[in-house]
Amino acid sequence: MKSFDIIIVGAGASGLMVASRFKDKNIAIIDTNPKIAQKIKISGGGKCNVTNIEVSYNNYLGDKEFVENVLKNFTQNELLTFLKDRGCEIVLKKDKQYFCKNSADEIINVFKDEIKNIPIFLNQKVIKVTKDEHFIIHSEKENFKSKKLIIASGGLSYPKIGATPIAYDIAKNFGHNVNTTSPALVGFTVQPDQFWMKELSGISLKAKIEVAGKSFIQDLLFTHKGISGPLVLNASLYWKKGTLEIDFLPEGSLKKYIKNSNKLISGVLPLPKRFIKEFLNHVGVVDKAASKLSKEDLEKLEFLKNYIFAPAGNFGYSKAEVTRGGIDTAKIDSLTMMSKIVNNLYFIGECLDVTGELGGYNFQWAFSCAWSVDIGE
Ligand SMILES: Cc1cc2nc3c(=O)[nH]c(=O)nc-3n(C[C@H](O)[C@H](O)[C@H](O)COP(=O)(O)OP(=O)(O)OC[C@H]3O[C@@H](n4cnc5c(N)ncnc54)[C@H](O)[C@@H]3O)c2cc1C
Repeated sequence: MKSFDIIIVGAGASGLMVASRFKDKNIAIIDTNPKIAQKIKISGGGKCNVTNIEVSYNNYLGDKEFVENVLKNFTQNELLTFLKDRGCEIVLKKDKQYFCKNSADEIINVFKDEIKNIPIFLNQKVIKVTKDEHFIIHSEKENFKSKKLIIASGGLSYPKIGATPIAYDIAKNFGHNVNTTSPALVGFTVQPDQFWMKELSGISLKAKIEVAGKSFIQDLLFTHKGISGPLVLNASLYWKKGTLEIDFLPEGSLKKYIKNSNKLISGVLPLPKRFIKEFLNHVGVVDKAASKLSKEDLEKLEFLKNYIFAPAGNFGYSKAEVTRGGIDTAKIDSLTMMSKIVNNLYFIGECLDVTGELGGYNFQWAFSCAWSVDIGE
C-alpha cells in the first residue's frame, strides 16, 4: 500500500492550494478526474473569477465567526499577490470581480508548477476512509495510507466533472453533522403561471430581487427552462421556499416612465420590446397610449415593480455552480481546519457548510480555507 505523511483528496481549488503550501512534505493528491482543476478550467466563462475587490462575511451563507476567521487568514489581496508573484495576470472586470486576463489555464499552470514534484493519483475515485493508527483511503483501484488526511473534494455540483458526496460520507462516518445540501447559484424553473417567461428565452434585462433581507440589482436572463443570470443565481443562494418579488424597473417608479403622453407603453418603458409584449399579454393590458390607460391597467402595470414569482424549483446540481449546506463547521477548528472530533483529519473548501455569492467568493473561500490549514509538526 502506498504510504504518505499527508494525503489530499481532491485536486480542485482548495486541494491544489493546500498542496502547494506543503509541497516540501511527504505528500500526495488523489482525484477521480483524469486531469486536475477541472472546475477552475470551466469557471468564470473560462476565465476564472478568482476573487472580488470586496470580500466579507456579508457575501457568504455560513457561521459568521467561522467564515470571518478563515477569510482573514488569506485575504483577497494576499491571493492576488500569490498569483501575480507566480506570473498570473489578473484583471478587474464588471467593477469588482477579478478574472484571469486570458484564460483560466493561467491559474491552472501556476498550480501545475507548484505541485510538479508531488505524486498525483488521477482517475482514482475515493470511496471510503477508515482509520486504525493511520488513515486508510480506499479508492476504486487501490488503498493508500496517510498520517494526516485533508478532504478537499468539494460539493455535489457538476457531477459530470467529478463531483461526488465523498466529503460528506467521510465526515458522517467520523461523527460530523452534515447540514442539508441543495443546489445554489442556479437558475429557477417556472410554474405554469409564469410560462409566459419561456417565450422570452435569450432576453436579458436589469432587475432587482429582494430575498431573505438581501437585495440584488443585476442582469436577469430568460431561458427556455425558466430564469437565470447573475441576479437569479445570487437570489437562489438565499431562497429556500415561497415567493420572491422581482422589480423589472429597478431604476424608477412606473410613474417616472408612464406620463400622460400619447406614446405607446412599449415606447416609454426602458425594457426590451419583446418582454413588454409578453408581459402585457400576461397581465391582459393592450399596448396603448399612456394617456389612455385605465386605473385597472395602471394597477396591472404596477406588477412590473413588484412581480410575485414562485419558483417551481431550480435547474439542479447539473447546472448549479455550488452546493449550499454541507459539513457543519461547529466541529471544525477555524484556525487549523482540523476536525474537533478526529485528530489529523481536515476538511476544506466547498464541502463545508459555507457558500459564497456569485463574484469570485467561492474560489476565495476555497483558497482561504487551504491557507488556514495548520498541520502542526
Ligand atoms: C460552471 C461553474 C463555474 C464557476 N465559476 C466560479 C467563478 O468564476 N468564481 C468562483 O469563485 N467560483 C466559481 N465556481 C464555484 C467554484 O468552482 C467552487 O466553489 C470551487 O471550485 C470549490 O473548490 P473545492 O476545492 O472545494 O472543490 P472543487 O474545485 O470542486 O474540487 C474538488 C475535487 O475533488 C475531486 N473529487 C470529488 N470526489 C472525489 C472522490 N470521490 N475521489 C477523488 N476525488 C474526488 C473532484 O474531481 C475535484 O477535482 C464555479 C462552479 C461551476 C460549476
